[in-house]
Amino acid sequence: MGRKKIILTARERKVIEKVRPYKRATVLGALRGRRKKLRAQKHEWYLANRERTRERDKKWRESHKDYNKKWRLENKERIKSYADRQKARDPEKLRENDRRWRENNPDKVKIRWNNYRGRKLGNGGKLSKDICKRLRISQKNKCAICGRSILTKGYHLDHIIPLFLGGENGDANVQLTCPSCNLSKGKKDPKLFIWHNKKLK
Ligand SMILES: [Zn+2]
Repeated sequence: MGRKKIILTARERKVIEKVRPYKRATVLGALRGRRKKLRAQKHEWYLANRERTRERDKKWRESHKDYNKKWRLENKERIKSYADRQKARDPEKLRENDRRWRENNPDKVKIRWNNYRGRKLGNGGKLSKDICKRLRISQKNKCAICGRSILTKGYHLDHIIPLFLGGENGDANVQLTCPSCNLSKGKKDPKLFIWHNKKLK
């Protein structure tokens, strides 16, 4: 593997141009050393100001949504190769990051998974990013089927008319239920499910 090519800043280019060619490698080496030190300092600062930086970056991302989207579309190859390099360097770290992200973003995991399923099955519709939050408020943190609290054991994002029965994967066709209600509903038709439950009571 060759050494990573350095992209020079304007100031550094000026320095390099003044130096005689045979000395350029040495000077470049010195600049590299300085860079390493600067990067270490920057990282230290970042660790000390993590929360502030995160907050600032979040604000920036939110106010530049279209910009980021456009950039991502224009730099697909670049993103892919970066991801591949990261994976090659430390696959374990990547898996760990992924696991942590999933743990911290359970709603996003649910929504992404259902959007993926809906897309695969061709049911149409797409869930909003904040649908879980909105349902938690409108359902007052209660299961839509049995009415028990969903705060203790977590919840499932349930399609009222199941996807396999042609239900749309849209905001209007989902509800939050406790895991056991969702699992016992399984792939039953909602009407049959209600009937089945009544019979049991
Ligand atoms: Zn329930």
